[in-house]
Amino acid sequence: MPEDYREMWGSLGLNLEAHDGLLAVLSDAYKNIYLTQPNRPVGMGYFDFVISEVHGLRIVELLKDKAAGKPVIGTFCVYVPEELILAVGGVAVGLCAGADVGAEEAEKYLPRNTCALIKAFMGFKLAGLCPYVESADLIIGETTCDGKKKAYEVFDEITNKVYVMELPNKKSADGKVMWKHEIERLAAKLTAVTGKEITLEGLKNAAKIVDEKRRALQRLSRLRSADPTPISGLDALLINQISFYDDPARFTTKVNELCDELDERVNKGEGVAPRGTPRLLISGSPMAIPNWKLHYIVEGSGAIVVGEESCVGERNFHSLLQDFSSVEEAMQRLAERYLSINCACFTPNDERFDDIATMTQTLHANGVIHYALQFCTPYLVEAFRAKNAVEEAGLPFLRIETDYSLEDAGQLKTRVEAFVEMIKDGGQA
Ligand code: SF4
Ligand code: SF4
Repeated sequence: MPEDYREMWGSLGLNLEAHDGLLAVLSDAYKNIYLTQPNRPVGMGYFDFVISEVHGLRIVELLKDKAAGKPVIGTFCVYVPEELILAVGGVAVGLCAGADVGAEEAEKYLPRNTCALIKAFMGFKLAGLCPYVESADLIIGETTCDGKKKAYEVFDEITNKVYVMELPNKKSADGKVMWKHEIERLAAKLTAVTGKEITLEGLKNAAKIVDEKRRALQRLSRLRSADPTPISGLDALLINQISFYDDPARFTTKVNELCDELDERVNKGEGVAPRGTPRLLISGSPMAIPNWKLHYIVEGSGAIVVGEESCVGERNFHSLLQDFSSVEEAMQRLAERYLSINCACFTPNDERFDDIATMTQTLHANGVIHYALQFCTPYLVEAFRAKNAVEEAGLPFLRIETDYSLEDAGQLKTRVEAFVEMIKDGGQA
């Protein structure tokens, strides 16, 4: 690892010894999980490089941006409009974390029975492991699930950087009015922090960048509908995870280059697994980087993941902002577009079951695995209705509740293998 990175990490206040340990574990895991996959597209080379530099070159870039007057804004949720951050000249980075390395530190502040995602973002900060949190000028939270909204209070005490958007619980007429107001309140906050007004031109430029990124991710998703599928679920998941960190314009170019290669594969009938391999949709809690556990188990069990009904997946790119001709209209479009995301923190959330049905059809999935993090009440409870909806549509359904540790990996593998065998035999759950 170059010495100047160590200086940079030291100046950001990271715990260098613990951070070295984290990078070593990550590098080994990546080699074992990603680089051993057969028949990977050449275009994945860029994303391998991004991962190898996720705490290196990308942080150098962010610090350069900051020095040039571009604020770094951290977010945890797909309800936070990236367009507003770009419109004030900022850089948006996702702060969700997918490893349990800081869990012990986090449990000094949070109850043990908090979901792994919350413990991870708290733990990464407390253990001195997250250069993104340290680089951020502002961190935007949201009142989604109870765990998050209470954790943000503690996180603000620790970082003094947190601003919280209030998300309604219902998509009612009142909820829509309130959310539009919250979008405007965020715009005012970003202007206050950066000193930059939000203009129509700034919003149009930002919307173009973000919509192009979403278009590229939609294109990647569509390509996964082919049989044989041209890219593994693991690789597609990685790209979706990287979409929260990378420079958006560069990322879009690289995803489109990869999709050109995947187009050729589809035209030639080539894929990463034989035609007829069982195809699974994963639905549920988000999988923050480096949480590759379930995809790794599924794809090591004779099936292929063809889509993610998840925030690290379809919920992030499902719709575009579309055009607008005034700042006021843009605010309305932003409010509508973001409130159309179907997270289990809403009640009711029937539209999510429609999304699952649509995805299983367009991606030709043979079954659905519902993934919920332990203690993630919204998704754990909603799994009941998701199961009914999927089984009524005639598809097998497997419900999994897990965390970031590998302790249950053997047990999960046994269950997933049995599920895949059942699908191969043409059976029902
Ligand atoms: S699952 Fe809900 S709370 Fe979590 S990132 Fe997605 S939208 Fe936000
Ligand atoms: S995974 Fe579930 S409990 Fe955890 S932050 Fe997201 S919605 Fe909340």
